Amino acid sequence: MLSTKDAIALENQYGAHNYHPLPVVLARGEGVYVWDPEGNRYFDFLSAYSAVNQGHCHPHIIDALKQQSETLTLTSRAFYNNVLGEFEKLVCDTFGFENVLPMNTGAEGVETAIKICRKWAYEKKGVPENEAKIVVCSNNFHGRTTTIISFSDDSNARDHFGPYTPGFVKVPYNDLQKLNEALQDETVAGFLVEPIQGEAGVNVPDDDYLRKAAELCGRHNVLLIADEIQTGIARTGSMLAVCGNCTCEGACERRADTYVRPDLLILGKALAGGVYPVSAVLADKEIMDVIKPGQHGSTFGGNPLGVRVAIAALEVVRDENLIQNARKLGSIFRSEMKKLQSECSLVATVRGKGLLNAVEINDSPDSSTAWDLCVKLKENGLLAKPTHGNIIRFAPPLVMTKEQLMECISIIRKTFLEW
Ligand code: PLP
Repeated sequence: MLSTKDAIALENQYGAHNYHPLPVVLARGEGVYVWDPEGNRYFDFLSAYSAVNQGHCHPHIIDALKQQSETLTLTSRAFYNNVLGEFEKLVCDTFGFENVLPMNTGAEGVETAIKICRKWAYEKKGVPENEAKIVVCSNNFHGRTTTIISFSDDSNARDHFGPYTPGFVKVPYNDLQKLNEALQDETVAGFLVEPIQGEAGVNVPDDDYLRKAAELCGRHNVLLIADEIQTGIARTGSMLAVCGNCTCEGACERRADTYVRPDLLILGKALAGGVYPVSAVLADKEIMDVIKPGQHGSTFGGNPLGVRVAIAALEVVRDENLIQNARKLGSIFRSEMKKLQSECSLVATVRGKGLLNAVEINDSPDSSTAWDLCVKLKENGLLAKPTHGNIIRFAPPLVMTKEQLMECISIIRKTFLEW
């Protein structure tokens, strides 16, 4: 097996430099742990950007992968396959929608939702051709395609990739007044929003933000499009972040007083447990039906291998009570981090929901302190990464036990207090 040093050297020589990874090579994963080639063990506190909510190489998901990979992997959608319908029924029942359109990556899911929303605007809302607009939020992150980076305000993601796709209007996140102003324009077709902004630094909006945004969208006949690619599948202590503080624990009563229902819901990442790229857009028929045969698709979207893996990944979320665990461990984590904040001037803010949390470091956003702390955390056996400048995101697999979490908290405490 290649050593850490040799694996990094090979990537540096032959790979495009489109990421800036921490200097650690991972060679094996199991549950909440990953190991480097030299056999050093780490707690994974990133979970592949919340794709590995079910833990690394979950045996139930890997069994499904193995069995299906020996049976049928890809048919394309030129033919039916005997697994897709089962997956479609399960996701529609689980998330409370009439239809689903499967894709592969998160960005493809977002692109799909944008296309459905625009087509709905022309065919159902009566927006004049080519004039549809979609309202998005400042500091959004929805992926890396040319259309999506057209409405990013991260200069790294956007600069020198123009010309940009028109038709997007930006409003500040968590600002209902600005959203209301933007919605006055009758050519607005949709409002695309992350229920919690993950990449921007785990920005949690006010409790009533999504509910009121949904009301405004309803009033103006605008589709609410929730990007739950990072926040969904139990990560924030409910099946979806739009479930708010609903305590139905995945039985999905969708209580009217807590649940905000998007018109279009985008899922990805942990939908297939980080074992296979599967994304999906959900909507009711009235909206989804604007897409007719031949108008949108993907060779791999809905393939039997991916959807069999996704079925198993959703079963793990249900059978292992990951919603409840994320909620319970998340509140322990934040209260321990707040204790640390009172003892350690490095910690400026602690925020998050469920097991999607962030600690903002008391230093300038341009400083390398958050990065250096992550390198130190790695040396102490825990892997986390800064999101934006001086913010460290802490998002372990949801299969973590309380004992493991307490061990991780000691590592974080020791690293911060010895700084
Ligand atoms: N949307 C959100 C909220 C995300 O966090 C991400 C990825 O981090 C994406 C979209 C893009 O997903 P992918 O990298 O699978 O294209």
